[in-house]
This record gives sequence, structure tokens and C-alpha cells, in this order.
Amino acid sequence: MTTVFNRPEAFKDEMVEGLLAAYGRYLDEVPDASAVMRRGGPLAGKVSVVIGGGSGHYPTFAGFVGAGLADGAVIGDIFTSPSAEHIYRSVLALDGGAGVLLSYGRYSGDIMNFGLAETRARAEGIDVRTVLVTDDIASAPPERSDERRGIAGDFCVFKVAGAAAERGDDMDEVERLARKANARTRTLGVAFGGCTLPGSSEPLFSVDSDRMEIGLGIHGEPGVRSGKRVPGDELAQLLVEPLLAGAERPPGAGGRAAVLVDGLGRTKYEELFVLYREVARLLHAGGVSVVAPEVGELVTSLDMAGCSLTVFWLDEELEELWTAPADSPGYRKPGVALARTTHARTKRAGSAPAGIPMAMGDTEAKSGAGGVADSSAAAVVRSALTSMLEVIESAEEELGHIDAVAGDGDHGRGMVRGLRAAVGAAAKAGDVPGAVLVVAGAAWAESAGGASGALWGAMLQSFGRSLVENGTGAEAVGGALGEAITSLVALGDAEPGDKTMLDALEPFVHAYLERARAGEGVVSAWAAALPAGQKGAQYTSSLVSKRGRSAVLGERSRGTPDPGAVSMMYCLAAVSRVLATVPGCNTAKLAGKALTASRRKR
Ligand code: ADP
Ligand code: MG
Repeated sequence: MTTVFNRPEAFKDEMVEGLLAAYGRYLDEVPDASAVMRRGGPLAGKVSVVIGGGSGHYPTFAGFVGAGLADGAVIGDIFTSPSAEHIYRSVLALDGGAGVLLSYGRYSGDIMNFGLAETRARAEGIDVRTVLVTDDIASAPPERSDERRGIAGDFCVFKVAGAAAERGDDMDEVERLARKANARTRTLGVAFGGCTLPGSSEPLFSVDSDRMEIGLGIHGEPGVRSGKRVPGDELAQLLVEPLLAGAERPPGAGGRAAVLVDGLGRTKYEELFVLYREVARLLHAGGVSVVAPEVGELVTSLDMAGCSLTVFWLDEELEELWTAPADSPGYRKPGVALARTTHARTKRAGSAPAGIPMAMGDTEAKSGAGGVADSSAAAVVRSALTSMLEVIESAEEELGHIDAVAGDGDHGRGMVRGLRAAVGAAAKAGDVPGAVLVVAGAAWAESAGGASGALWGAMLQSFGRSLVENGTGAEAVGGALGEAITSLVALGDAEPGDKTMLDALEPFVHAYLERARAGEGVVSAWAAALPAGQKGAQYTSSLVSKRGRSAVLGERSRGTPDPGAVSMMYCLAAVSRVLATVPGCNTAKLAGKALTASRRKR
């Protein structure tokens, strides 16, 4: 249970405020980015290691900002990826001229948001690289180890990258060592009880007192399978055996390994030591020499009960970096610094974060048929967003529950956060209807983060841009819907049947196009297309998730609809209700060219 908070929606920001107040000797705030950096900012000529992800994992991520570890951490809401905009601003602020290495656990929302930020910063000439952490052996078989998610092994990769960068290694070398560390890190965990998001009264999952979840995620996702709860020594065996199995031994693994017994938030250090006692014995019996082990809470999952075991196979160069000193709020390791060149503590010129929201780009400049102010159409757009917000606010809890079955329970909360920002931004965005949506989409993506924030932000922005180009007739709206699908697929790479919001949106758009082609206007075509979208959303219940956080728990997701598909239909229906109040429906013919074009691209 999360007990100390004021308003759930303020939890993350208030946490960051307190962190900065407590650890101002280590940390400075990155302006307008929901991020922290090493006090004094980036070091000129030093590679900056920037980590990040949702909060709820302290000391991961923000607690690892300091000497010998990360230069900065971008902080999302609880279990939610930070937005691309915040990551981008952090990269600009943290580049000391030698480039920025981004490192984070492999989750789809993070990949989308960090990926967008990387692309944008690279286009501006900054050397940005990414090393994903993929240590969880329960999340995919060895032959698909690059599809695994990142859990406690995050720490091993951050430690190596941070120590190499601190030593003065160049970007190629820091990247190489971080990749090598990830390739040699394996983790398996168990959970005895789920965690509870601030403001919720129920945990994301619960476990009977005689059972445990094996192969946990660190976002309150249950394990990949359930098993009988066992005494400590048997638990040690259950964790050690798979990690030492031949298939999990990375090439080059010798006899030396760093070991991490990590508590998830509610399991006491004393319990972890009881576990470690037998882990150490089994590793020794298995011929492993343990180097500088860590037992404690390094990667947590709010108040989740459970623990994980990480084995990080060392060689000489990795051992030197693993044992190098570090000094951050959440991790301190004394010792003599590795030999290195000194960096002047000067900020790179021109590293001030840009204040321009992402991807607003040239909307105004490229104005086409729809680029003119139309106050009544803009008012419809604003009402539609407000109506979406109202319906999602009332469904917030339901969407959270659906997302908790196989995901992390944050879908309702993320949608509300994004829509509130979108409605707020739309109110100040002038009277060009498409441009209002572009501004709203940028605000949504920036404040919501997560997979759905990035995807909805991209969809609204391309929908809006298309309206700016082509106006708001039935044909133009069909084209804009096609553009929204194109951007959804470009960013998320989902196919129909992957159990995502696409499975609701695509049949809706097809049905819309059919009606519009037959000469119906926007209002009636939109309303008539809703049942097809609903059917698509319902159909997702029978599917196994192949995208997003819930993909790891594929089979568990069967029988529950996809939360993103459900919220998509709430939104499309809310828009329909607003459209129905608009006098004089447009009956322009629709060619459906854009959808055909978007399908060809795929
Ligand atoms: P997160 O997965 O970051 O916790 P949310 O819970 O807010 O984000 O949103 C989850 C929804 O996002 C899923 O139900 C699905 O509809 C959608 N989604 C996730 N990944 C993808 C993807 N790659 N392509 C399309 N939709 C996706
Ligand atoms: Mg989620």
C-alpha cells in the first residue's frame, strides 16, 4: 500500500521535489524535463550516461545519478515511460560534447519515447546511442534474448557504462562495454504479492499465501507462471539453477560473476540475506567465484513483495568497472578512482533545453486547405477533446483494471493525464482546427509518456496535420484517419491481431471510409463506423498480446480485451456524440486515398 502521498497525480512531481531537496549536494534539476542531472551539469568532453524510465523503482533511476554512475535520469510517472519531449530536452542539456549514451530496460513505451528523442537529437548532430537492458530470462527464451525485458540487471549495465564514462572512455568504448555488460547479465525473480499504485486501494495483482509468481516484472506485472511457495533454501535453488543452466551461460562466461540479490520493495533485507546465504553456497558449488555481491534494494517495484537474483558474468575489464567507486544518492561504493583524464566542469555552449514542443514542426507554415481559422470547427475539436477526457475520467479505474491483468495498470491514469494536457493546450491553441489537434497531441505525448502517450500523441498530431493540409470535409477526415493509422504503425510497429488499439481503430476507419465513399458526411459516417470498431475492440479479448508490456504475459491476456482498444472506442464514441450536436453535416464524397496509401507504405 502506498500510504504517504497527497494527490496521486502529484506523486511523482512531489517525489522529485523531495529528492532534490534531500540530495541537492548530488543533483540539479534539468529545466522543463522532469529529469535530474549530476550537480553542475555535464562535464565537457565526457560521454554522458542518461538513464530513465517510469518511477516506482527507486533507487533506479534517479538515485543512480552521481560520480561513477549516470549523468542524468529522466523520470516518468509511476511505471510510465517519460515523454519523448522530456528525454530530448535532457539529452540536449546533458551532452557535454562527447555524446549521450541512453540506457534503460527494454519496454515498448520506453523504446518509443527514447527512440523518438534519440532520432531528433541525432538530427541535430548529437552523438546519441542506446543500450537496452534485457536481463529477465523469464520473459523470452534464450534464442530470443534480445526480446527480453530489463529488470534488476539494469543496475549492472548502468554501473559499467557509468564507470567507463567516468574514466574518460569515448562513446564507442562506453557503448561497447555497456552492450557487453548487458549480454552477460541474467536475472530471474519471484513475487509474493503485488504493489499498489498511489491512490489505489487494491494491488495490481495478488498472490495466495501458499503461492508465488515466478518470472516477475518490475511494473506490478504478475509472473509468467505461478508456483507453490517454498522455503528460503529451495527458493535459492529455484533461482540459481536456471541462471547457471548451459543455455543461459553467455559466450565467454568464466568462473567469476557479480551477483545481485534484489528486493522489490516489501521484502526485508534480513530475508534477502537468508536467501543470499544459500545462493552463495550454490554458486560456490557450481564453480562460480562471486565478486563484490550486492544484497539489497537496487531496482524496486513500489511495495511489491518479492526478490530477484542477477548473475553478471565478469571478465577482467568488466570486473574493473563493476568494482570501481561510485557516489550517488542511492548507491555509494568507496574506492580509488580508475585512472582517467580530467574533465573541466564547464557546460557545453548552447546546451539549454529547447522549449519548443516536439513535432509541432512546420504545421503553420505548411497550411493547406484546412490551414485557416474557423472558430466554430475549432470549438468542435475542443469539445471533442473535452468529451474524450470526461468519458476516460469516468472509465479510469476500469481501464486500470484491464491493464493490470497482463500489463502494469496505468492505462486509465495515463490516458487521463494525456487528455487533461491535451484539453489544456487546445484551449490556448488558436482557431485552426487541425493545428489545435497538433498542439493537443504534442501536449498529450509530453505529459502522459508511456506507450499510449507516445502513440496517441503521434496519432493526434498526424491527424491534425492532415486536416491542416486538406480541411475538415468527410474526405479529408478519412484521409486524416488514415494518417493517424500510419503514424501509429510507424511508431509501434503493430499489426492487426497483435492485440492493440490498432485492432479497434482499423475496422472503425474501414467502416468510416465505406460510408463516406457512399456519400455520407463526417457525422453520420463516424457514428455508423462505431459498431465495427466496438467489434474489433471486443475481439481483442480472444487474442494473445504481442505488443507492449503485456506481450510477455501473452497467454494471461487472453480473455481480457486490450485496454488501449477499449479506450480507443470510448474516445471515438465520445467524439461521435459531440459531432452529433453539430448543425449541418458535411456530405462530401470520400476517395479514401490516404488509407490506401498508408496500407501500401506498410
Ligand atoms: P504502457 O504499455 O507504457 O503501460 P499504457 O498502459 O498506457 O502504456 O497503454 C497500453 C496500450 O497501448 C495497449 O493496450 C495497446 O493498445 C497500446 N500499445 C502498446 N504498445 C503498442 C504498440 N507497439 N503498437 C500499438 N499499440 C500499442
Ligand atoms: Mg500500461
